[in-house]
Amino acid sequence: MTTTKPRTRLGEALGTDFFSVREQFTDEQWTTFVSMRRFVDDEVIPVAAGHWERAEICWPLIRRLPELGIVGEEIEGHGCPGLSPMACGLATMELHRGDGSLGVIHGVHSGLAMRSIALCGSDEQKERWLPAMARMERLGAFALTEPDHGSDSVALETSARRNGNGWLLNGRKRWIGLGTLADLIVVWARSSVDGKVGAYVVERGTPGYEASVIEGKGSLRSVWQADITLTDVRVPEANRLPAARTFADATRVLAATRSTCAWAALGHATAAYDTALRYVSSRRQFGRPLASFQIIQQRLVSMLADLTAMQLYCLQIGRLADAGRLTPTVAGLAKMHNTRKARAIAADARDMLGGNGILLDHHVIRHMADLEAIHTFEGTETIQTLIVGRDITGISAFA
Ligand SMILES: Cc1cc2nc3c(=O)[nH]c(=O)nc-3n(C[C@H](O)[C@H](O)[C@H](O)COP(=O)(O)OP(=O)(O)OC[C@H]3O[C@@H](n4cnc5c(N)ncnc54)[C@H](O)[C@@H]3O)c2cc1C
Repeated sequence: MTTTKPRTRLGEALGTDFFSVREQFTDEQWTTFVSMRRFVDDEVIPVAAGHWERAEICWPLIRRLPELGIVGEEIEGHGCPGLSPMACGLATMELHRGDGSLGVIHGVHSGLAMRSIALCGSDEQKERWLPAMARMERLGAFALTEPDHGSDSVALETSARRNGNGWLLNGRKRWIGLGTLADLIVVWARSSVDGKVGAYVVERGTPGYEASVIEGKGSLRSVWQADITLTDVRVPEANRLPAARTFADATRVLAATRSTCAWAALGHATAAYDTALRYVSSRRQFGRPLASFQIIQQRLVSMLADLTAMQLYCLQIGRLADAGRLTPTVAGLAKMHNTRKARAIAADARDMLGGNGILLDHHVIRHMADLEAIHTFEGTETIQTLIVGRDITGISAFA
Protein backbone atom coordinates (compact mmCIF):
# COMPACT_ATOMS: atom_id res chain seq x y z
CA MET A 1 0.00 0.00 0.00
CA THR A 2 1.35 3.43 -0.90
CA THR A 3 0.41 6.28 1.40
CA THR A 4 1.04 9.99 0.95
CA LYS A 5 3.49 11.35 3.52
CA PRO A 6 3.92 15.03 4.25
CA ARG A 7 7.46 16.04 3.33
CA THR A 8 8.00 17.87 6.58
CA ARG A 9 7.28 14.87 8.74
CA LEU A 10 10.92 14.62 9.82
CA GLY A 11 10.97 18.27 10.78
CA GLU A 12 12.75 19.27 7.56
CA ALA A 13 11.91 21.67 4.79
CA LEU A 14 12.10 20.29 1.25
CA GLY A 15 15.52 18.88 2.15
CA THR A 16 16.75 16.57 -0.56
CA ASP A 17 13.33 15.17 -1.49
CA PHE A 18 12.59 17.49 -4.41
CA PHE A 19 10.78 14.84 -6.45
CA SER A 20 8.69 13.64 -3.48
CA VAL A 21 10.27 10.21 -3.62
CA ARG A 22 9.31 9.58 -0.02
CA GLU A 23 5.62 9.78 -0.93
CA GLN A 24 6.15 6.54 -2.83
CA PHE A 25 7.17 4.60 0.27
CA THR A 26 4.85 1.96 1.67
CA ASP A 27 4.22 2.01 5.41
CA GLU A 28 6.88 -0.70 5.90
CA GLN A 29 9.45 1.31 3.93
CA TRP A 30 8.58 4.53 5.72
CA THR A 31 8.90 2.87 9.12
CA THR A 32 12.29 1.44 8.22
CA PHE A 33 13.45 4.77 6.83
CA VAL A 34 12.39 6.77 9.88
CA SER A 35 13.75 4.35 12.48
CA MET A 36 17.07 4.08 10.63
CA ARG A 37 17.29 7.85 10.22
CA ARG A 38 16.81 8.37 13.97
CA PHE A 39 19.34 5.67 14.84
CA VAL A 40 21.91 7.16 12.47
CA ASP A 41 21.38 10.77 13.59
CA ASP A 42 21.31 10.00 17.32
CA GLU A 43 23.78 7.14 17.69
CA VAL A 44 25.97 6.71 14.60
CA ILE A 45 27.01 10.17 13.42
CA PRO A 46 28.21 11.35 16.88
CA VAL A 47 30.78 8.53 17.09
CA ALA A 48 31.60 7.68 13.47
CA ALA A 49 34.58 9.98 12.91
CA GLY A 50 36.36 8.85 16.09
CA HIS A 51 36.08 5.19 15.21
CA TRP A 52 37.19 5.92 11.65
CA GLU A 53 40.29 7.81 12.85
CA ARG A 54 41.26 5.05 15.29
CA ALA A 55 40.35 2.29 12.79
CA GLU A 56 38.19 0.71 15.50
CA ILE A 57 35.12 -1.42 14.99
CA CYS A 58 32.16 0.02 16.88
CA TRP A 59 30.76 -3.07 18.60
CA PRO A 60 27.94 -1.28 20.51
CA LEU A 61 26.45 -0.09 17.22
CA ILE A 62 26.78 -3.56 15.68
CA ARG A 63 24.86 -5.02 18.62
CA ARG A 64 22.06 -2.50 17.98
CA LEU A 65 21.42 -3.72 14.41
CA PRO A 66 19.24 -6.74 15.31
CA GLU A 67 17.02 -4.48 17.47
CA LEU A 68 16.43 -2.33 14.40
CA GLY A 69 14.94 -5.29 12.55
CA ILE A 70 17.24 -5.17 9.53
CA VAL A 71 19.63 -8.12 9.98
CA GLY A 72 18.93 -10.80 7.41
CA GLU A 73 17.14 -8.21 5.26
CA GLU A 74 14.79 -9.92 2.79
CA ILE A 75 15.19 -13.43 4.18
CA GLU A 76 11.87 -14.92 5.31
CA GLY A 77 11.75 -16.98 8.50
CA HIS A 78 14.72 -18.21 10.59
CA GLY A 79 14.39 -15.10 12.78
CA CYS A 80 14.96 -12.74 9.81
CA PRO A 81 12.77 -9.69 9.13
CA GLY A 82 11.64 -10.48 5.56
CA LEU A 83 11.89 -6.84 4.51
CA SER A 84 11.05 -5.68 1.00
CA PRO A 85 14.12 -4.94 -1.19
CA MET A 86 13.17 -1.26 -1.14
CA ALA A 87 13.15 -1.20 2.69
CA CYS A 88 16.56 -2.95 2.66
CA GLY A 89 17.86 -0.27 0.28
CA LEU A 90 16.59 2.51 2.54
CA ALA A 91 18.26 0.91 5.57
CA THR A 92 21.54 0.67 3.64
CA MET A 93 21.24 4.27 2.46
CA GLU A 94 20.76 5.52 6.00
CA LEU A 95 23.60 3.43 7.47
CA HIS A 96 25.97 4.81 4.85
CA ARG A 97 24.70 8.35 5.41
CA GLY A 98 26.11 7.90 8.89
CA ASP A 99 29.02 5.52 8.58
CA GLY A 100 30.15 3.50 5.56
CA SER A 101 32.03 1.04 7.75
CA LEU A 102 28.91 0.13 9.71
CA GLY A 103 27.03 -0.17 6.43
CA VAL A 104 29.66 -2.53 5.06
CA ILE A 105 29.62 -4.67 8.22
CA HIS A 106 25.86 -5.04 7.78
CA GLY A 107 26.31 -5.64 4.03
CA VAL A 108 28.94 -8.37 4.45
CA HIS A 109 27.07 -10.13 7.25
CA SER A 110 23.47 -9.85 6.00
CA GLY A 111 23.81 -9.18 2.29
CA LEU A 112 26.64 -11.55 1.43
CA ALA A 113 27.07 -14.26 4.10
CA MET A 114 23.43 -14.70 5.20
CA ARG A 115 22.15 -14.31 1.64
CA SER A 116 24.57 -17.02 0.41
CA ILE A 117 23.19 -19.41 3.03
CA ALA A 118 19.59 -18.39 2.32
CA LEU A 119 19.96 -18.76 -1.47
CA CYS A 120 22.26 -21.79 -1.62
CA GLY A 121 21.87 -23.62 1.71
CA SER A 122 19.66 -26.57 2.63
CA ASP A 123 16.73 -26.13 5.00
CA GLU A 124 18.79 -27.77 7.75
CA GLN A 125 21.72 -25.39 7.17
CA LYS A 126 19.44 -22.34 7.18
CA GLU A 127 17.93 -23.38 10.50
CA ARG A 128 21.37 -24.25 11.90
CA TRP A 129 23.00 -20.89 11.10
CA LEU A 130 20.54 -18.13 10.24
CA PRO A 131 18.76 -17.58 13.59
CA ALA A 132 22.02 -16.92 15.48
CA MET A 133 23.24 -14.76 12.58
CA ALA A 134 19.98 -12.77 12.67
CA ARG A 135 20.72 -12.02 16.34
CA MET A 136 24.34 -11.25 15.34
CA GLU A 137 25.56 -13.78 17.86
CA ARG A 138 27.45 -15.39 15.01
CA LEU A 139 29.10 -13.12 12.43
CA GLY A 140 29.38 -14.05 8.76
CA ALA A 141 31.93 -13.33 6.02
CA PHE A 142 32.00 -13.94 2.26
CA ALA A 143 35.31 -15.01 0.74
CA LEU A 144 35.38 -14.81 -3.05
CA THR A 145 38.19 -12.44 -4.07
CA GLU A 146 41.76 -13.78 -4.30
CA PRO A 147 45.11 -12.00 -4.51
CA ASP A 148 45.37 -12.83 -8.24
CA HIS A 149 41.65 -12.73 -9.06
CA GLY A 150 39.64 -9.60 -8.25
CA SER A 151 37.65 -8.41 -11.26
CA ASP A 152 38.09 -11.85 -12.81
CA SER A 153 36.99 -13.74 -9.70
CA VAL A 154 35.39 -16.21 -12.11
CA ALA A 155 38.94 -17.60 -12.53
CA LEU A 156 39.35 -18.28 -8.78
CA GLU A 157 41.95 -20.90 -7.89
CA THR A 158 41.08 -21.91 -4.32
CA SER A 159 40.49 -25.65 -4.47
CA ALA A 160 38.10 -28.02 -2.69
CA ARG A 161 39.41 -31.58 -2.71
CA ARG A 162 37.31 -34.59 -1.65
CA ASN A 163 38.47 -36.04 1.67
CA GLY A 164 36.37 -38.84 3.16
CA ASN A 165 32.96 -37.40 3.97
CA GLY A 166 34.15 -33.87 3.50
CA TRP A 167 36.43 -31.47 1.68
CA LEU A 168 39.92 -30.01 2.06
CA LEU A 169 40.20 -26.35 1.08
CA ASN A 170 43.48 -24.85 -0.11
CA GLY A 171 44.16 -21.38 -1.45
CA ARG A 172 44.31 -17.69 -0.63
CA LYS A 173 41.65 -14.99 -0.32
CA ARG A 174 42.04 -11.23 -0.15
CA TRP A 175 39.98 -8.25 0.98
CA ILE A 176 37.56 -10.39 2.96
CA GLY A 177 35.38 -8.19 5.20
CA LEU A 178 35.23 -9.52 8.80
CA GLY A 179 37.61 -12.34 7.77
CA THR A 180 39.46 -12.15 11.10
CA LEU A 181 36.30 -11.89 13.22
CA ALA A 182 33.61 -14.02 11.59
CA ASP A 183 32.27 -17.27 13.03
CA LEU A 184 31.08 -18.53 9.64
CA ILE A 185 33.06 -17.80 6.50
CA VAL A 186 31.41 -18.67 3.17
CA VAL A 187 34.42 -19.66 1.04
CA TRP A 188 33.97 -19.97 -2.73
CA ALA A 189 36.27 -22.69 -4.10
CA ARG A 190 36.66 -24.86 -7.19
CA SER A 191 35.87 -28.53 -6.74
CA SER A 192 38.61 -30.91 -7.82
CA VAL A 193 35.85 -33.41 -8.68
CA ASP A 194 34.17 -31.46 -11.51
CA GLY A 195 36.05 -28.13 -11.70
CA LYS A 196 32.89 -26.21 -10.75
CA VAL A 197 32.78 -23.41 -8.20
CA GLY A 198 30.91 -24.12 -4.95
CA ALA A 199 30.48 -22.57 -1.48
CA TYR A 200 31.85 -24.14 1.71
CA VAL A 201 31.14 -22.75 5.17
CA VAL A 202 34.30 -22.68 7.29
CA GLU A 203 33.62 -22.38 11.01
CA ARG A 204 35.76 -20.19 13.24
CA GLY A 205 38.69 -22.06 14.77
CA THR A 206 38.98 -24.67 12.01
CA PRO A 207 42.68 -25.67 11.76
CA GLY A 208 44.45 -24.36 8.64
CA TYR A 209 42.38 -21.12 8.44
CA GLU A 210 44.65 -18.12 8.97
CA ALA A 211 43.56 -14.53 8.57
CA SER A 212 45.33 -11.22 9.10
CA VAL A 213 43.90 -7.70 8.98
CA ILE A 214 44.87 -5.57 5.97
CA GLU A 215 46.39 -2.50 7.64
CA GLY A 216 46.89 1.04 6.42
CA LYS A 217 43.54 1.65 4.70
CA GLY A 218 42.47 5.20 3.86
CA SER A 219 38.84 4.15 3.30
CA LEU A 220 36.23 2.39 5.46
CA ARG A 221 38.70 2.40 8.31
CA SER A 222 36.31 1.11 10.97
CA VAL A 223 35.61 -2.19 9.25
CA TRP A 224 38.44 -4.64 8.79
CA GLN A 225 39.23 -6.72 5.72
CA ALA A 226 41.53 -9.73 5.80
CA ASP A 227 44.09 -11.65 3.85
CA ILE A 228 43.27 -15.33 4.32
CA THR A 229 45.33 -18.46 3.79
CA LEU A 230 43.59 -21.83 3.66
CA THR A 231 45.85 -24.85 4.22
CA ASP A 232 44.08 -28.21 4.20
CA VAL A 233 41.05 -26.66 5.91
CA ARG A 234 38.64 -29.52 6.55
CA VAL A 235 34.99 -28.79 5.81
CA PRO A 236 32.39 -31.50 6.45
CA GLU A 237 29.94 -32.29 3.64
CA ALA A 238 27.24 -30.88 5.94
CA ASN A 239 28.89 -27.45 5.52
CA ARG A 240 28.90 -27.41 1.71
CA LEU A 241 26.01 -25.28 0.40
CA PRO A 242 24.19 -27.70 -1.93
CA ALA A 243 22.62 -25.11 -4.23
CA ALA A 244 25.95 -23.39 -4.94
CA ARG A 245 26.81 -25.46 -7.99
CA THR A 246 28.60 -23.05 -10.33
CA PHE A 247 30.08 -19.56 -10.36
CA ALA A 248 26.66 -18.33 -11.52
CA ASP A 249 25.42 -18.97 -7.97
CA ALA A 250 28.04 -16.60 -6.54
CA THR A 251 26.86 -14.11 -9.17
CA ARG A 252 23.28 -14.59 -7.98
CA VAL A 253 24.30 -13.47 -4.51
CA LEU A 254 26.34 -10.56 -5.86
CA ALA A 255 23.58 -9.39 -8.20
CA ALA A 256 21.44 -8.51 -5.20
CA THR A 257 24.26 -6.75 -3.37
CA ARG A 258 25.30 -4.73 -6.42
CA SER A 259 22.14 -2.66 -6.05
CA THR A 260 23.08 -2.23 -2.37
CA CYS A 261 26.11 -0.24 -3.58
CA ALA A 262 23.82 2.16 -5.46
CA TRP A 263 21.86 2.80 -2.24
CA ALA A 264 25.09 3.11 -0.23
CA ALA A 265 26.45 5.71 -2.65
CA LEU A 266 23.20 7.69 -2.27
CA GLY A 267 23.65 7.69 1.51
CA HIS A 268 27.21 9.04 1.31
CA ALA A 269 26.24 11.68 -1.28
CA THR A 270 23.26 12.84 0.82
CA ALA A 271 25.53 13.34 3.83
CA ALA A 272 28.09 15.27 1.76
CA TYR A 273 25.45 17.52 0.16
CA ASP A 274 23.69 18.20 3.47
CA THR A 275 26.97 19.14 5.12
CA ALA A 276 27.98 21.45 2.27
CA LEU A 277 24.59 23.19 2.30
CA ARG A 278 24.72 23.79 6.04
CA TYR A 279 28.32 24.95 5.88
CA VAL A 280 27.89 27.53 3.10
CA SER A 281 24.78 28.85 4.83
CA SER A 282 26.75 29.81 7.95
CA ARG A 283 30.27 30.43 6.67
CA ARG A 284 30.86 34.10 5.77
CA GLN A 285 33.52 35.36 3.35
CA PHE A 286 33.74 38.81 1.74
CA GLY A 287 31.21 39.97 4.34
CA ARG A 288 28.43 37.63 3.21
CA PRO A 289 27.41 33.99 3.66
CA LEU A 290 29.04 31.77 1.05
CA ALA A 291 25.52 30.61 0.12
CA SER A 292 24.78 34.08 -1.27
CA PHE A 293 27.31 33.76 -4.09
CA GLN A 294 26.01 32.68 -7.47
CA ILE A 295 28.71 30.13 -8.17
CA ILE A 296 28.11 28.44 -4.81
CA GLN A 297 24.37 28.25 -5.52
CA GLN A 298 24.99 26.85 -8.97
CA ARG A 299 27.21 24.14 -7.51
CA LEU A 300 24.61 23.25 -4.87
CA VAL A 301 21.90 22.96 -7.53
CA SER A 302 24.12 20.80 -9.69
CA MET A 303 24.81 18.51 -6.71
CA LEU A 304 21.10 18.37 -5.89
CA ALA A 305 20.23 17.50 -9.50
CA ASP A 306 22.66 14.57 -9.40
CA LEU A 307 21.39 13.51 -5.99
CA THR A 308 17.83 13.54 -7.27
CA ALA A 309 18.80 11.39 -10.25
CA MET A 310 20.47 8.94 -7.86
CA GLN A 311 17.26 8.79 -5.79
CA LEU A 312 15.23 8.00 -8.89
CA TYR A 313 17.67 5.23 -9.86
CA CYS A 314 17.27 3.76 -6.38
CA LEU A 315 13.51 4.14 -6.37
CA GLN A 316 13.24 2.24 -9.65
CA ILE A 317 15.73 -0.54 -8.81
CA GLY A 318 13.85 -0.90 -5.52
CA ARG A 319 10.55 -1.24 -7.40
CA LEU A 320 12.03 -3.71 -9.88
CA ALA A 321 13.53 -5.76 -7.04
CA ASP A 322 10.22 -5.66 -5.15
CA ALA A 323 8.60 -7.10 -8.29
CA GLY A 324 11.38 -9.72 -8.67
CA ARG A 325 12.45 -8.13 -11.98
CA LEU A 326 15.82 -6.55 -11.16
CA THR A 327 18.49 -7.92 -13.52
CA PRO A 328 22.24 -7.88 -12.77
CA THR A 329 22.78 -5.54 -15.74
CA VAL A 330 20.27 -2.97 -14.48
CA ALA A 331 21.73 -3.22 -10.97
CA GLY A 332 25.18 -2.74 -12.53
CA LEU A 333 24.02 0.40 -14.36
CA ALA A 334 22.67 1.80 -11.09
CA LYS A 335 25.87 0.96 -9.21
CA MET A 336 27.98 2.59 -11.93
CA HIS A 337 25.83 5.72 -12.14
CA ASN A 338 25.41 6.28 -8.42
CA THR A 339 28.98 5.66 -7.33
CA ARG A 340 30.25 7.97 -10.10
CA LYS A 341 27.84 10.77 -9.13
CA ALA A 342 28.47 10.28 -5.40
CA ARG A 343 32.23 10.66 -5.85
CA ALA A 344 31.67 13.92 -7.73
CA ILE A 345 29.24 15.26 -5.11
CA ALA A 346 31.59 14.37 -2.24
CA ALA A 347 34.54 16.03 -4.01
CA ASP A 348 32.50 19.20 -4.60
CA ALA A 349 31.30 19.25 -0.98
CA ARG A 350 34.83 18.79 0.28
CA ASP A 351 36.00 21.79 -1.74
CA MET A 352 33.09 23.97 -0.56
CA LEU A 353 34.18 23.46 3.05
CA GLY A 354 37.61 24.90 2.27
CA GLY A 355 40.27 23.80 4.74
CA ASN A 356 37.63 22.41 7.07
CA GLY A 357 36.72 20.01 4.29
CA ILE A 358 39.69 17.82 5.13
CA LEU A 359 38.86 17.60 8.84
CA LEU A 360 37.12 14.47 10.12
CA ASP A 361 34.96 16.65 12.41
CA HIS A 362 33.11 17.82 9.30
CA HIS A 363 32.59 14.24 8.03
CA VAL A 364 32.84 14.98 4.29
CA ILE A 365 36.39 13.73 3.88
CA ARG A 366 35.38 10.44 5.53
CA HIS A 367 32.47 9.99 3.11
CA MET A 368 34.71 10.91 0.20
CA ALA A 369 37.30 8.32 1.24
CA ASP A 370 34.70 5.62 1.96
CA LEU A 371 33.21 6.07 -1.50
CA GLU A 372 36.53 5.00 -3.01
CA ALA A 373 36.04 1.46 -1.70
CA ILE A 374 32.41 1.33 -2.83
CA HIS A 375 33.53 2.47 -6.27
CA THR A 376 35.84 -0.58 -6.37
CA PHE A 377 34.12 -3.49 -4.64
CA GLU A 378 31.36 -5.76 -5.92
CA GLY A 379 32.61 -5.04 -9.46
CA THR A 380 34.48 -1.83 -10.18
CA GLU A 381 32.89 1.04 -12.09
CA THR A 382 34.76 -0.13 -15.18
CA ILE A 383 33.54 -3.70 -14.81
CA GLN A 384 29.92 -2.53 -14.43
CA THR A 385 30.43 -0.41 -17.54
CA LEU A 386 31.66 -3.46 -19.46
CA ILE A 387 28.68 -5.50 -18.25
CA VAL A 388 26.24 -2.85 -19.49
CA GLY A 389 28.33 -2.39 -22.66
CA ARG A 390 28.03 -6.09 -23.39
CA ASP A 391 24.29 -5.85 -22.97
CA ILE A 392 23.78 -2.92 -25.35
CA THR A 393 26.25 -4.05 -28.05
CA GLY A 394 25.93 -7.82 -27.73
CA ILE A 395 29.75 -7.96 -27.68
CA SER A 396 31.70 -8.98 -24.58
CA ALA A 397 34.80 -6.84 -24.02
CA PHE A 398 35.96 -9.26 -21.33
CA ALA A 399 36.84 -12.15 -23.57
C1 LIG B 1 37.19 -2.34 1.18
C2 LIG B 1 36.99 -3.56 0.36
C3 LIG B 1 36.16 -4.57 0.84
C4 LIG B 1 36.00 -5.77 0.12
N1 LIG B 1 35.26 -6.79 0.65
C5 LIG B 1 35.23 -8.00 0.02
C6 LIG B 1 34.60 -9.14 0.64
O1 LIG B 1 34.04 -9.04 1.75
N2 LIG B 1 34.63 -10.33 -0.01
C7 LIG B 1 35.24 -10.48 -1.22
O2 LIG B 1 35.22 -11.58 -1.75
N3 LIG B 1 35.86 -9.41 -1.83
C8 LIG B 1 35.88 -8.20 -1.24
N4 LIG B 1 36.50 -7.11 -1.83
C9 LIG B 1 37.19 -7.29 -3.11
C10 LIG B 1 36.61 -6.49 -4.28
O3 LIG B 1 35.44 -7.09 -4.75
C11 LIG B 1 37.72 -6.35 -5.35
O4 LIG B 1 38.66 -5.43 -4.83
C12 LIG B 1 37.18 -5.88 -6.68
O5 LIG B 1 36.44 -6.89 -7.30
C13 LIG B 1 38.33 -5.43 -7.62
O6 LIG B 1 39.34 -6.38 -7.66
P1 LIG B 1 40.86 -5.92 -7.49
O7 LIG B 1 40.95 -5.09 -6.27
O8 LIG B 1 41.69 -7.16 -7.54
O9 LIG B 1 41.19 -4.99 -8.74
P2 LIG B 1 41.62 -5.45 -10.21
O10 LIG B 1 40.68 -6.49 -10.72
O11 LIG B 1 43.07 -5.77 -10.22
O12 LIG B 1 41.36 -4.12 -11.03
C14 LIG B 1 42.31 -3.03 -11.07
C15 LIG B 1 41.81 -2.00 -12.09
O13 LIG B 1 41.75 -2.61 -13.40
C16 LIG B 1 40.46 -2.43 -13.95
N5 LIG B 1 40.11 -3.58 -14.79
C17 LIG B 1 40.03 -4.89 -14.43
N6 LIG B 1 39.67 -5.65 -15.47
C18 LIG B 1 39.51 -4.80 -16.54
C19 LIG B 1 39.14 -4.96 -17.90
N7 LIG B 1 38.80 -6.16 -18.41
N8 LIG B 1 39.10 -3.87 -18.70
C20 LIG B 1 39.40 -2.64 -18.20
N9 LIG B 1 39.76 -2.41 -16.93
C21 LIG B 1 39.80 -3.48 -16.10
C22 LIG B 1 39.53 -2.31 -12.73
O14 LIG B 1 38.32 -1.66 -13.06
C23 LIG B 1 40.40 -1.49 -11.78
O15 LIG B 1 40.30 -0.14 -12.13
C24 LIG B 1 36.65 -5.91 -1.15
C25 LIG B 1 37.45 -4.87 -1.62
C26 LIG B 1 37.63 -3.72 -0.90
C27 LIG B 1 38.53 -2.64 -1.44
